[in-house]
Amino acid sequence: MKIDILTLFPEMFNGPLNSSILKKAQEKGIITINYINIRDFTTDRHHQADDKPYGGGAGMVMKVEPVINAYEAIPKNNSFTIMLSPQGRKFNQKFARELSRKEHLIFICGHYEGIDERVRQLIVDEEISIGDYVLTGGEIAAMVVIDAVARLVPGVLGDEVSAEEESFSDQLLEYPHYTRPRNFRGLEVPEVLLSGNHKKIDLWRKKQSLLNTFFRRRDLLKIRGLTKEEKILLWQGFFELAMLIDEIPERSE
Ligand code: SAM
Repeated sequence: MKIDILTLFPEMFNGPLNSSILKKAQEKGIITINYINIRDFTTDRHHQADDKPYGGGAGMVMKVEPVINAYEAIPKNNSFTIMLSPQGRKFNQKFARELSRKEHLIFICGHYEGIDERVRQLIVDEEISIGDYVLTGGEIAAMVVIDAVARLVPGVLGDEVSAEEESFSDQLLEYPHYTRPRNFRGLEVPEVLLSGNHKKIDLWRKKQSLLNTFFRRRDLLKIRGLTKEEKILLWQGFFELAMLIDEIPERSE
């Protein structure tokens, strides 16, 4: 996958996109990321990338020419252009999966009051919002989207299975994870995970995943629905939780 990022602040990307899994993906050549400084495409003497808004009002607006000039300098073939914006389509895992199938993504990061509207009209395929709040710029939003998308590109994660099973992949939240030690400050790893019985482990994980989603994000279950088997598993989970009541000592009134 090829990724081009149009920004006024390329230095912001250094740490997050050049560490850990994304660093390795670039070293392996699975993903290439280019940073394009919009200011390099200004045409005036002062390299001004923003200007006062027509009609007045507070804040500055990013100018149309430098963004379009920067965009036009990118070699393109089958590209998809994204503008980060609080007014865009809300980003989620399904959307990340869709984007992970694209060959070439171009990200346009706004700053200040935003970008001249004509950029959206001329070159943007989709506007993306990472949530209902306003950031100072599109850079952090672009990093969030790139991180979520890149890890779904085949070969980026060492273990392909881990992306298949994790939260949201089946519109369910994931089950809890444990590693050594078996006992930490009196908290034991669930017995079933030590049993070596993979059928039992899979069933336990599915049950925990259903319980997690039920208690934390019932809205997801309402949209997704539950199979008859899943409902039975959830009932079993509730029953096991109800049994824990007996572990609590009774106290006098
Ligand atoms: N005046 C704009 C508005 O009210 O819609 C907000 C501009 S914001 C201060 C500056 C830039 O940050 C935007 O152009 C966009 O690129 C980015 N941004 C802010 N919030 C965002 C969000 N929730 N998701 C994605 N990008 C965001």
